[in-house]
Amino acid sequence: MPHRSGQRPVFRFAPSPNGRLHLGHALSAHLNHSMAREMGGLYLVRIEDIDATRSTPENEAAILEDLAWLGLSSDAPERRQSEHLAEYERALDRLKDMGLVYPAFLSRGEVKAIVRTQEEGGQPWPRDPDGAPLYPDADRLRDTRDRAERLARGEKHAWRLDMAKALALLDRPLFWMETGERWPAQIPANPRTWGDVVLSRSDAPSSYTLSVVVDDAAQGVTHVVRGRDLYHATAVQRLLQELLGLPEPVYHHHRLVLDAEGRKLSKSSSSTALAELRDKGATPSDILRLIGV
Ligand code: GLU
Repeated sequence: MPHRSGQRPVFRFAPSPNGRLHLGHALSAHLNHSMAREMGGLYLVRIEDIDATRSTPENEAAILEDLAWLGLSSDAPERRQSEHLAEYERALDRLKDMGLVYPAFLSRGEVKAIVRTQEEGGQPWPRDPDGAPLYPDADRLRDTRDRAERLARGEKHAWRLDMAKALALLDRPLFWMETGERWPAQIPANPRTWGDVVLSRSDAPSSYTLSVVVDDAAQGVTHVVRGRDLYHATAVQRLLQELLGLPEPVYHHHRLVLDAEGRKLSKSSSSTALAELRDKGATPSDILRLIGV
């Protein structure tokens, strides 16, 4: 796997403690660990517990136990996102100072209603690569006074990136370096397809997108190895790295482990949960066989 010279390779496995680990996570952790070992680099575990409504200390403890069982514990103390909120806030403040974010007041229900009205009128609403509707224009177009009054009233809001404005700041096309079986290749990044992404919400101080770029930079991550489900999300992460002046890691998006019906595994499907397999007598080498490595 290529990497930039002079730097010690740093890999990370970054589970969210909103459920137990399954076979897909085992593949991701294993690949990160083995690539780090091959390259004489570091393998770090990061706990992505920014979503306080879904993350629990019990899940975190269980994740660390599963990783220890697999022999995939972190080479250094785990970084926990909930302990770094001030860093995400600083990154958001920088984007605010650059005039690239705006307060978004529409509730999920209001967004749904706007989308439904347009679609019922026979006009499709644009969707992001995950299939979610793009955020409507209303809040971006709001005048400064209306915005200021709503903020002064303490109206609930998220902060969103003004995608068009952010892209206008770039002075060259955006790419990322992807490695793997069919790669390496420079992949053109097209963050526009995600619209005005959310950077923080009233109930979560930072979004996944913002925290992940801050964390990868803070931990000196040189290689991001994760499932293909996050392939398209890379475009926005590259954009935020450019805007915030953060280094660019190399990416490798690996195959997903699918269930018997060919679907992506979920945290709720217990048949592929590592703890369940362990309870049924599976050994760590059985897990490696099951994930095909
Ligand atoms: N926390 C994310 C997840 O569990 C992974 C994020 C990443 O690897 O960039 O899906």
